[in-house]
Amino acid sequence: MSTIFSKIINKEIPADIVFESDNILAFKDINPQAPVHILIIPKIEIPKVTDLNGKEHASLLGEMIDAANKLAKENGIDESGFRLVLNCGDNGGQEVYHLHLHLLGGRQMKWPPG
Ligand code: AMP
Repeated sequence: MSTIFSKIINKEIPADIVFESDNILAFKDINPQAPVHILIIPKIEIPKVTDLNGKEHASLLGEMIDAANKLAKENGIDESGFRLVLNCGDNGGQEVYHLHLHLLGGRQMKWPPG
């Protein structure tokens, strides 16, 4: 089932897009939890982590990590550090069922997460 992120991919609703390639899109989170909070998503509809398959999606996941590193550098948080998060399912706190990698940085992160 399509989510609001499909509408962002199709440019049906606006988003603050910071990176786009053939396969992925990155945009600023509308409710940022850190000075830098960017969502990196595949353009194809993959609802959640349990729908991923290492063999099939290795290259796509690699692109998402490359984008995270590039965006971390552009935002000046590559040296200070950052957090990458993939929430999966209800207990994981997932709200939008279109796979997305959170890039969070610009402040000290805490552990354990809430
Ligand atoms: P999750 O809880 O991992 O599913 O994260 C979903 C994230 O999407 C949340 O951090 C929301 O703030 C963010 N979000 C929801 N709608 C939008 C939107 N239209 N544009 C940007 N970020 C959004």
